[in-house]
Amino acid sequence: MPERTETESRKLLRRLRDTLAEAGAGQERLDRITHLIADSMRTEVCSIYLFRDAETLELCATEGLNPEAVHQTRLKLGEGLVGRVARSATPVNTGNAPQERGFRYMPETGEEIYSSFLGVPIQRLGERLGVLVVQSREARQFSDDEVYGLEVVAMVLAEMTELGAFVGEGEALAAPHQHPVLFRGLTGQEGAAEGHVWLHEPRVVVTNLVADDPTAEIERLRNAVNKLRVSVDDMLSRAAGAEKDQMEILQTYRMFAHSRGWMRRMEEDISRGLSAEAAVEKEQSLARNRMQQAPDAYLRDRLHDLDDLSNRLLRILTGQGRNTGAEMPANPVLVARNIGPGDLLDYGRSLRGIVLEEGSVGSHAAIVARALAIPLVIHAERITTEALNGDHILVDGDNGVVHLRPEDTVAAAFRDKIAMQAKAQERYASLRQLPAQAKCGTTIGLHMNAGLMADLPSLEGSGAEGVGLFRTELQFLVRNQVPKRGELAALYARVLDAANGRRVVFRTLDIGSDKVLPYMKPQDEPNPAMGWRAIRLGLDKPGVMRMQLQALIRAANGRPLTVMFPFVAQFEEFTKARDHTLHALEAEARLGHAVPEKVEIGAMLETPSLAFAPRQFFEMADFISIGGNDLKQFFFAADRENERVRRRYDTLNVSFLSLIEQIVRRCDDAGTPLSFCGEDAGRPIEALCIAAMGVRTLSMRPASIGPVKHLIRRTNLTEARSVIDVARNSGAQSVRPAVMEWLTTQG
Ligand code: PEP
Ligand code: MG
Repeated sequence: MPERTETESRKLLRRLRDTLAEAGAGQERLDRITHLIADSMRTEVCSIYLFRDAETLELCATEGLNPEAVHQTRLKLGEGLVGRVARSATPVNTGNAPQERGFRYMPETGEEIYSSFLGVPIQRLGERLGVLVVQSREARQFSDDEVYGLEVVAMVLAEMTELGAFVGEGEALAAPHQHPVLFRGLTGQEGAAEGHVWLHEPRVVVTNLVADDPTAEIERLRNAVNKLRVSVDDMLSRAAGAEKDQMEILQTYRMFAHSRGWMRRMEEDISRGLSAEAAVEKEQSLARNRMQQAPDAYLRDRLHDLDDLSNRLLRILTGQGRNTGAEMPANPVLVARNIGPGDLLDYGRSLRGIVLEEGSVGSHAAIVARALAIPLVIHAERITTEALNGDHILVDGDNGVVHLRPEDTVAAAFRDKIAMQAKAQERYASLRQLPAQAKCGTTIGLHMNAGLMADLPSLEGSGAEGVGLFRTELQFLVRNQVPKRGELAALYARVLDAANGRRVVFRTLDIGSDKVLPYMKPQDEPNPAMGWRAIRLGLDKPGVMRMQLQALIRAANGRPLTVMFPFVAQFEEFTKARDHTLHALEAEARLGHAVPEKVEIGAMLETPSLAFAPRQFFEMADFISIGGNDLKQFFFAADRENERVRRRYDTLNVSFLSLIEQIVRRCDDAGTPLSFCGEDAGRPIEALCIAAMGVRTLSMRPASIGPVKHLIRRTNLTEARSVIDVARNSGAQSVRPAVMEWLTTQG
């Protein structure tokens, strides 16, 4: 790297910093900057293009091109060389611009006389603001040093824009972190919330981008990297003996922390005038860009590791800890890349809403958010880079949409929506004591799903008749080790106390598939959803199952007990699990413990095979509950966690309804009570149709009981069934359109 370039670029950065500090209107400052850069780079032209909106770039200042073109020339993303730089977020460097692929001649600028072109993105931490271009008559490629130098300048420029220094014609140049941003993600949990951002891991704020003494800065960087290495080594030695996956992640961290290339690039940036923090951040920006473009999930994960490592390094350099001392705002809405169920439980019900960049509908965080009835939006890409603590935020869990720093009109419309929902809730509350009796006289039992102690208060408020599904694995998922029998017995006893005589269906541990316990040896299975999970695991390793059954019997302490086994695929699995329960009862009685006055042992029907099990199965089971989430995924062979296929098949598809009809018939023949406890039981139209097919008990999220009861009480199930049957006979794929039309005519 030639010494001259380093000194030059340091000088330029310093002059840029001074310009930033000077007074003056935004435009004037922007003009001064293009002049400075052209002068320093020895080019005839320097131009700054900034985003007007997500798709349009505008020439906002220039030295060398026709000044009349400023604020007139606009380009679409991907259009011309400037658009190409903006879209790819990588530099374009050419000695012969007109010959370059995608070149677009803009006569109003007078640029036809300039042969060479170098454009770099103006960006910070993956946030793209515009493009910085230098051009000259001389037909030459710019050297790597010059490209590098211009990138450094562009980064400092990005920071200036962030400070709101440039105000072009007004609206479009509002500084980032001030303008409204809309995120379209996916629904994790329905509901609407208004509040203020609370970052789970606040961003490190770097304010000193330019430094005067490169030697001192390099020294600071080296010291910080040494500390980082020690801390990674520490993590590695503490994790000795941990699972292979965790060790692998730490090894990658270690590799990155010792990467010579990483270190060299950061030191070069410092030589060009950046501070140590800015150099780290520049590398982090590049990694984030690559992350957005990496096609391969493994590579993306590794780039994520590098991102994490950069954050750690920035924390060391700036001394900013995770706890910034900031106070949690009123009505906090948690914003995070991802969060574990344990952390989420720590926040508990204090949160109004949750927005994640990652996550999936079936993830543990989503399960906990659902249990706590907190609106959750997942896959809100880049929200952690956009949001700042305290920002005003609206979470629309129904549509998977988030408004960050919304306009007043948007916020007002949103509040109307919340008010309407609150009104509906009031209406539902007035139904609380009334039965879900349809117009035809049939009454449907409405129960709630639960999994945490925190769910139990909803039993009163929702008007649920009991707990139709208690997912016991949540207690296992939120801990770092297998809970002890005594702990579990105490917890189950508290659940029964809270239920106060109402029936609670305890489902035994349903782990495996996506529900991997942190302390369980991960199984390397090609298809975990169809793998070693739930009852399969329970029967192969009966120790935990036995322990859980004992805990349940002790918790009941003489009271009635209802146990349900998940994911039964064939009769024998049920008989074996049932035998374990009967043995446990005998053993407990022998030990002198009180045995429940009544024990019901049921099975979840979650695989199509069980619908075709021998008659004896239906006779032996005390009750059966359709686990619609799993049953549907296996019936249609469509992964419930895969966003691409999850919604492809309608629950009201005629084939699925025929399967339900068959299950109803078989249970009726055997005189076995049947319920439905998948998510669909909580969706009013679906619930109505499932009831019309003959299922008499539904178990759902507590918040769904009101809406489902409201609809059932207003409809005649016999008529609904006729509408469904006519649609089934018509060759329709789904009965939904016919049912919707009928409901509309019913008002
Ligand atoms: C189901 O599969 O429908 C069900 C209720 O169980 P889970 O969602 O816990 O798998
Ligand atoms: Mg299931």
